[in-house]
Amino acid sequence: MTQRVNPKVEPERVIELEEVVLEGMDISGHWNRMFEQRVIWDYDVDAMDRIIDLDGGESFGWCYQCAQCVAVCPVDHVGSYGPRKLVRWVQTGMDLFTSPELWLCTTCANCLRVCPKEVNLMEVMPAVRKEAVMAGHVPAELQDVFEKTARYGNPLGKNPKRRHAWTKGLEVEVPLISDLGRKVEVLWWVSDYPAYHPRGIDASRALARVLHRLGVDFAILGPEERHDGDSMLRAGEEGLFEMLAEHNIEVLNRYEFDVLLTTDPHAYNAFLHEYPKRGGTYNVVHYSRFLADRIDELGLTEEISQKITFHDPCYLGRHNGEYDAPRELISALPGAELVEMWRIRENGYCCGGGGGGMWLDGHAADHQRMRLSEKRVLEAVETGADTLCVVCPYEVSRFEDAVKSTNNDGRLQVLDIAELLAQAMGLPTD
Ligand code: SF4
Ligand code: SF4
Repeated sequence: MTQRVNPKVEPERVIELEEVVLEGMDISGHWNRMFEQRVIWDYDVDAMDRIIDLDGGESFGWCYQCAQCVAVCPVDHVGSYGPRKLVRWVQTGMDLFTSPELWLCTTCANCLRVCPKEVNLMEVMPAVRKEAVMAGHVPAELQDVFEKTARYGNPLGKNPKRRHAWTKGLEVEVPLISDLGRKVEVLWWVSDYPAYHPRGIDASRALARVLHRLGVDFAILGPEERHDGDSMLRAGEEGLFEMLAEHNIEVLNRYEFDVLLTTDPHAYNAFLHEYPKRGGTYNVVHYSRFLADRIDELGLTEEISQKITFHDPCYLGRHNGEYDAPRELISALPGAELVEMWRIRENGYCCGGGGGGMWLDGHAADHQRMRLSEKRVLEAVETGADTLCVVCPYEVSRFEDAVKSTNNDGRLQVLDIAELLAQAMGLPTD
């Protein structure tokens, strides 16, 4: 460890003044003497250099410890965290590459929003995690998901051939684009949880019915679709991301469509920012925006007499600026009242699922007072809402678990906006 230590100022050498008055204020008290160097000079520059030398790690060295980030970091609200603290811990000897702290950041981007120095954890964390992944320092639960995704093309480890099994028994048709053999208006990128998780499937079936009622010419990829890889990239598995992106781009480039419709804000983010760098450029639209632009055609006639609160997904809102579409849809539900939580829109509280957090709940529970999803559910309950509305497939399962673990079962239900719309349109809800 290389130390930079400044010489101490000996107290005897300090000239004591009887009185020092500055702009009418007496500042001559003993409290105004600094008899030794503050320890901020006394730090491990090698540990910092290792991070800032990484591609993406540079901004970690720009921090000047103002602490604005700590107040908005969701992890600090359930523990002790934030870029300022991480920088200081590294300066005083923490090895971020092997520390459990490396895996607590959800890449929610709230710190970057307020940071005057643009310290960018969305780049720093993946860069350091990439090194940790290559060295094998990965929490076991996340490693398991990496392996499942590499093997099956989805983080749940489900049979890739059954990716469209959720469409069976639906009274409306959900065609595979490979069977149609023609251009479609909308290619729906369904994603993993909407294809395999029971509550994700509920939302997918609702959305299929809504699209049908709207008369949208749509199809899905089914078994040809694989995980979009965005969360794998944030979790440091760049090689896996590249493999998934290469496959998905090759599949997408086989077909003709006007709009790539995503249910998952993480897939939306990947298609907007990562796939174009690799030759995959599409007219990508999140389903909340697609439906909000067609509110007048939805035929919302059934009363939804509920108080509804809404959770902004970090990768739809803060990362990509879409705050209004879900609110427009909720506000259009007959009889419904939108009641907001106190942390919303730009300052929305993270559910804990981003940056690989979706698969690190055990790790988070070991290092935080409570999960972020539990904190958020308590905020939703505080509003007096009956329903917590979501527009991200990571969230239904996360929040439903959190409703149970915070003993709010029966007090708060968690519903995807597609489920609420289907109800208001008088569509079947099974
Ligand atoms: S807001 Fe930026 S500069 Fe200020 S402490 Fe946080 S990371 Fe450092
Ligand atoms: S990205 Fe979010 S979770 Fe990570 S340090 Fe910043 S505010 Fe905290």
